[in-house]
Amino acid sequence: MAQINKNFEKLPGSYLFAEIARRTAAYQEANPDASLIKLGIGDVTQPLVPAVIEAMHEAVDEQGVAETLKGYGPYEGYDFLREAIRDHDYRARGVDIALDEIFISDGAKSDCGNIGDIFAKDNKIAVCDPVYPVYVDSNAMEGRAGEYDVDAEAWTNIHYMPTTAENGFFPAIPDIHVDIIYLCSPNNPTGTVLDRDQLRAWVDYANDNDAVIMFDAAYERFITEDDIPHSIFEIEGAKSCAIEFRSFSKTAGFTGMRCGYTVIPHDLVRQGQSLNEMWLRRQSTKFNGASYIIQKGASAIYTSEGKRQIEETIRFYLENARIIKDGLEKCGLQVFGAVNSPYVWCKTPEGIGSWEFFNRLLEEANVITTPGAGFGPAGEGYIRLTGFGERPATKEAVSRIRRMLS
Ligand code: PLP
Repeated sequence: MAQINKNFEKLPGSYLFAEIARRTAAYQEANPDASLIKLGIGDVTQPLVPAVIEAMHEAVDEQGVAETLKGYGPYEGYDFLREAIRDHDYRARGVDIALDEIFISDGAKSDCGNIGDIFAKDNKIAVCDPVYPVYVDSNAMEGRAGEYDVDAEAWTNIHYMPTTAENGFFPAIPDIHVDIIYLCSPNNPTGTVLDRDQLRAWVDYANDNDAVIMFDAAYERFITEDDIPHSIFEIEGAKSCAIEFRSFSKTAGFTGMRCGYTVIPHDLVRQGQSLNEMWLRRQSTKFNGASYIIQKGASAIYTSEGKRQIEETIRFYLENARIIKDGLEKCGLQVFGAVNSPYVWCKTPEGIGSWEFFNRLLEEANVITTPGAGFGPAGEGYIRLTGFGERPATKEAVSRIRRMLS
């Protein structure tokens, strides 16, 4: 008999967004006239920018001609995109990354999830709490998370690092040994960032403990404050202890296009093995590269026109986030994020839990948010809203919430 991966049986309930969709659908069915505003899931609403569309049209035409047809591409991605990333995302910020340290993929979710292939099962994992669920669930699927403790809502082999208003959203350096640490800045879901000193503390910990930091910089383009690092490789010593994930999803509206990349420096060696070489081996076995057309589209965001256009869209989402933050603050709520992130992280009113507040917002304001508790136990007492909506809907949602709370 074929034996299944029993780790899947340990995974708790449904995926957070599936549960939100279920509750939303049930409410809509019972209230067909309700006009719901979705500020829950972090998906984009603005169209792809003209520079990207133009580049992809050209790439489509190339595929229609034998002489320019591209079949299987390089597993690591086309040089035209890797060179643009090296020059614009790194060299321009004083970071020297080699071309063969960059791996193009179909998105950061795949890479964050698949990276576990190159690590043993018995590593001790550390994650922030609350956290982007993919890090935890993918480790659980691979049997690295231990057992799921229903009461604690936590996995036994995962070290949870609360990041809350009380500790300034800084995951404390653990006093135990951990091997693999997931950090995300700007953070999903809290919308907060790690500054240079905070990242330096983690890089020092990782180098001292032969640990590896998985640094998720999917929202890097939303950073507006000058001194916040955009890459962990801006921190001295990071090349020997960190892997960085980036995504074109929120940067350039690529959620439906699928493109991202991962940087693994040659200096990152564990047990005598180059993790860069291991990842290349993994990718060349299980991945046949991101689509040529999509990579052409992604490379267009590095032209001066493309850059200007995506920056305009990012400013639009940030302005939405600011509108939400200001509106909620005027209701007397405590609100975080929004400054370097499209996410707004809001403390629920005294005595009201995450899911309870989610339900009230759904039923009384017809606004869909994401309950903070869905991102981990320390997310209890918060909700997340996103700046990815349309402007009128965003403003209307804020007015409805203000009416509800007044
Ligand atoms: N990392 C974080 C923190 C995210 O929030 C997301 C998407 O929501 C991703 C990675 C996934 O990005 P992609 O669309 O490139 O797979």
